Amino acid sequence: MKDSKHKAMGNPNLTDDHIFYAGILVGDECVCGGSKSEGKAFCYTCWKELPNELQLGLYKQLDGGFEEGYEQAEKWLRENYL
Ligand SMILES: [Zn+2]
Repeated sequence: MKDSKHKAMGNPNLTDDHIFYAGILVGDECVCGGSKSEGKAFCYTCWKELPNELQLGLYKQLDGGFEEGYEQAEKWLRENYL
């Protein structure tokens, strides 16, 4: 049954990573535990704490660099802000 969720999504090419990050984007909870808007990686409070170059990484598309941008931004927030 390992592939069942891929079939359920209707796209066998979706990776677990894609599903994971898409889930973050559609979720409404920020890494800080606060609420965020659907489609945003973080709440505005966290987002404005980020250095410019890390904010830029979050403008990238899913499967086009967003994953790396999110990882870096989340790591920075955990080390410097949370
Ligand atoms: Zn937040």
